[in-house]
Amino acid sequence: MPKNREAARANLENLYRIFTVPEAPDSTLGAIAQAIAGDVAGFLQTHIVAIERSMEEIETHFASAAIPEEPTYVSDYTEFVKEHLVAQSVHTAAPGFIGHMTSALPYFMLPLARLMTALNQNLVKVETSKAFTPMERQVLAMLHHLVYRKADDFYPAWIHDSQHALGAFCSGGTIANVTALWVARNRLFAPAGAFRGIAQEGLGAALRHRGADGIAVLVSERGHYSFGKAADLLGLGRDNLIKVPTDNRNRIDLNALRSEVERLKEKNILPLAIVGIAGTTETGNIDPLHELADYAAELGCHFHIDAAWGGPTLFSDRHRQLLSGIERADSVTIDAHKQLYVPMGAGMVVFKDPTALSAIEHHANYILRHGSKDLGSHTLEGSRPGKALLVHAGFAIMGRKGYELLIDLGIARARTFADLINRHPDFELTSEPELNILTYRYCPAKIQQALSKASPEQRSAINWLLDQVCQLLQKNQREAGKTFVSRTRLRTPLYDGELTVLRVVLANPLTTDETLEAVLAEQCELVKESEIQALLEQIEGLCGMCSP
Ligand SMILES: *Cc1c(COP(=O)(O)O)cnc(C)c1O
Repeated sequence: MPKNREAARANLENLYRIFTVPEAPDSTLGAIAQAIAGDVAGFLQTHIVAIERSMEEIETHFASAAIPEEPTYVSDYTEFVKEHLVAQSVHTAAPGFIGHMTSALPYFMLPLARLMTALNQNLVKVETSKAFTPMERQVLAMLHHLVYRKADDFYPAWIHDSQHALGAFCSGGTIANVTALWVARNRLFAPAGAFRGIAQEGLGAALRHRGADGIAVLVSERGHYSFGKAADLLGLGRDNLIKVPTDNRNRIDLNALRSEVERLKEKNILPLAIVGIAGTTETGNIDPLHELADYAAELGCHFHIDAAWGGPTLFSDRHRQLLSGIERADSVTIDAHKQLYVPMGAGMVVFKDPTALSAIEHHANYILRHGSKDLGSHTLEGSRPGKALLVHAGFAIMGRKGYELLIDLGIARARTFADLINRHPDFELTSEPELNILTYRYCPAKIQQALSKASPEQRSAINWLLDQVCQLLQKNQREAGKTFVSRTRLRTPLYDGELTVLRVVLANPLTTDETLEAVLAEQCELVKESEIQALLEQIEGLCGMCSP
């Protein structure tokens, strides 16, 4: 055989081996697999290095657009992964990583995720998922029951009903919110007489059919940005996502909501849905859900609740009543990759009316046939992994009481942190925690006193400088890599206008009170840096002029 054909043949055999041979335990990949199976926390701790390399430097290792021509050894590749990817990723499971909604995972999620990958089921249709389909349907029913608390005899008729689905399992809260509003839109413009429905005829025909000039969704200004995407995608237009002002606890202002709806009426725009938030992304506050349910009923429009973050509060006997009224929503979003502690890429939306999802039903001849139990006929996504296994596992292994413990811990820890901030002379709490999220900023007592006496102009000048302190502090803390909080801009009850604030999410059970003290202590150290000191001196100068 000519030499290059021989080589090609050898390569092909190697490729074949890739599909059949497990990694040797003494290979790099084998070692990684073992380390993760044995001690995830230890693996992450040792392999993610907290040395800040610039993104530009990292990008140099991902610069080529050429797909490699020749195969390479798995071990060579995994060396690359270890050094340039794992080492430079973010330690989201670290107890001091309290800035975002991503936290540590229960250890059993990893081997089960691996099992899920190995089985490689596709939930779009029964033909590629078999038992995974009833399992996913059961998970949706469990979540439906958590939210709506229907009597036990409600479920047998619906869980495995081939015509319907109690909800949709999807890749996250964004798709869940889009799905909810998609259903609401198609139900508002359902087929009637000669009109074959918006799904068939499109938005223009639908509006002519109703004699309307547009449709709108109303959510508070704390609403998640996924609603902007939904408004764009569903043809409402982002202008018709109405951001209603909030009260001083970041909850939708009901009077403002009413006047926005009046304004829409004058413009001949139909309210498609009112969205309540159960746990805002930035501050963790909960809208007045009963009042919103009443108002949506009065208007006859869809009532959706975005409980992507806060939904699992329903597990807690002590705190469940914070979400009272959620059972009146037409649809509810809950993210599994947040407080259900499932790896990234899992969310759900459930519908009170078990026939609601028929509004977006889609059939195809080769799959998703009428009367099949295929879940793909009721989801936006097509091919989907068996992620429901991980939710099922969490429910089965931790149980309601396990999740309750996690929720109660998080809320208690947020209160502890709020107390620490209130007692500390150098910090100011900018939003009280209702759940396990709070915001605060660096603002020493002396500056707080000056602000209370300052004129509006002086106040805004000082706050403008404090915003820069906050921004630098957050950036420097992230770069130092020991602990992490995030930042956002918010209107707070304390001052007019928006402030830059530090944001903390307390969902990692490994975070302790000592971690919280360490975060504040590190921040007190970080403000000694010269750029921040220069800003603080400027602020002190302004404060000197504030006393009457
Ligand atoms: C996280 C979140 C979302 C979006 O969910 P993704 O899973 O990131 O798509 C929507 N709403 C709220 C309130 C959230 O916290």
